[in-house]
Amino acid sequence: MTKPTTKPRIVGIDLGTTNSLISFIKNGQPRIIPNERGSRTTPSVVCFKSEQEIIVGEMALNQAVLNADSTVSNVKLMMGTTEPYTIGDRSLLPEEISALILSHLKNCAEQYLQQEITDAVITVPAYFNDNQRQATLRAATIAGIKVHKLLNEPTAAALTYGLGSTQEQARLLVLDLGGGTLDITLMEYSDKVFRVRGVGGATTVGGINFDRQIIEHTLETFDLNSPYDLRNDPIAFQQLVIYAEKTKIDLSSSTETTVMIPYIAVSDEGPIHLNQSLSRDKFSEISKDIIHDIEKYLIETFARAELEPNWVDSVILVGGATRIPAVEEMVCRFLSPDPETMAETRERLFKRQVNPDEAVARGAGILAGILNDEIAGMEFHDITSHNLGLEDDQGIFIPLIAAGTPYPCAETRLFTTTANNQPEVAIHVMQDRGHEGSEEFTSLGVFQLEMDAEKAQGEPNIDVTFSIDPNGVLSVNAVDLDSGKANAECGIQIL
Ligand code: AMP
Repeated sequence: MTKPTTKPRIVGIDLGTTNSLISFIKNGQPRIIPNERGSRTTPSVVCFKSEQEIIVGEMALNQAVLNADSTVSNVKLMMGTTEPYTIGDRSLLPEEISALILSHLKNCAEQYLQQEITDAVITVPAYFNDNQRQATLRAATIAGIKVHKLLNEPTAAALTYGLGSTQEQARLLVLDLGGGTLDITLMEYSDKVFRVRGVGGATTVGGINFDRQIIEHTLETFDLNSPYDLRNDPIAFQQLVIYAEKTKIDLSSSTETTVMIPYIAVSDEGPIHLNQSLSRDKFSEISKDIIHDIEKYLIETFARAELEPNWVDSVILVGGATRIPAVEEMVCRFLSPDPETMAETRERLFKRQVNPDEAVARGAGILAGILNDEIAGMEFHDITSHNLGLEDDQGIFIPLIAAGTPYPCAETRLFTTTANNQPEVAIHVMQDRGHEGSEEFTSLGVFQLEMDAEKAQGEPNIDVTFSIDPNGVLSVNAVDLDSGKANAECGIQIL
């Protein structure tokens, strides 16, 4: 007799720059799993206390001031790079640090659900490139987690909205401003089918940029009154980093606050205290370039999708940094430039039932529920966020699938050789960021196609096909049409 097989439970993970969350489906609804302290969000912070002791989350964050050299925060911003973190005599890649966060979340879920967790949907910014996605997949593998889908964060947020909404149709703008990333998605929703119409954003804009402005402003003002150099005091500086974030958060709900850090440092003259007030107006003034940048990405996203701002009938704000009043004001102004109708626009378009901190994790849980057959009948169709193509022998990028193409899709182009008797042709798969005039290419892989060595330059006919499956996985096939020889690179995660 064969043993009945039970399907492993799939959980949803929002692996955020600042905070991470884990969710599961109960009675058809996504639930956030509390961590070991009972909190719903876990700071994405890792502290290497000793060779044996590694702390993750709130406790690691609390120790960050005293252990600045052995604490890692914001590792998501480094994902996809090969720059290691050096901690004592250890050297760790960003994905190895991320794996520690994932393991911690996995342990919390195992404790809470009282079962082993090995399967997950993990969210990533829509704008993550292939290297960043691959690094996320490697982090999951290190943590012993099988990833069923890397889900784009704005799509996850829209799933949360869709599950909770009574609206049968919507034209959504999802603006996700997290700790270090900006993701903009334009999406249609009709009868439980989601269709992405446009994506944009940047992996260099987020809440941290606002923190940095507060740090700079505080230091500049402090420098005027004190000869002590806070910039060169790592413990003092780390405290300032933490207080700058708190100040920014305070200014989302009050119009004035004080950055007060008693005993921030001790100089020859005695203890130094930091005590500076900051108004919301001043904060808006010092961060206007960041707001301007976000607006620039909004304009670009609408232009690329060939949609006008008045196309939008629902706005979902995701990510803690969308609570900054100046961000919401800018989005409102962008959608409704007439000051007379701004208040009405805000009331009508902004869907506040979606919790910006939890929407992505809940959406990951919803997809996990769909994959687990616990939720029925939701479908989504995504589009590519990068141009995909080949590099020719001159180093020139030849696009095959343009950014913004709905998938599944396939595109074929004919190529030939550039030299006589070429024994093989290198197929170098590349993607670019898809921004207007951008030249930021990322290599997705190279493979060789063997050729008949007797052919003159330009004679062979080589068909190259790019196809993207419903999960956003790219396969590239190359065939020499004369000899029938073929080679392929499959399973490239592009989205
Ligand atoms: P997330 O990646 O969604 O967790 O977003 C984290 C970012 O949101 C961090 O930069 C936080 O400092 C910021 N954030 C969280 N809450 C607020 C708030 N109430 N006002 C402004 N920024 C916030």
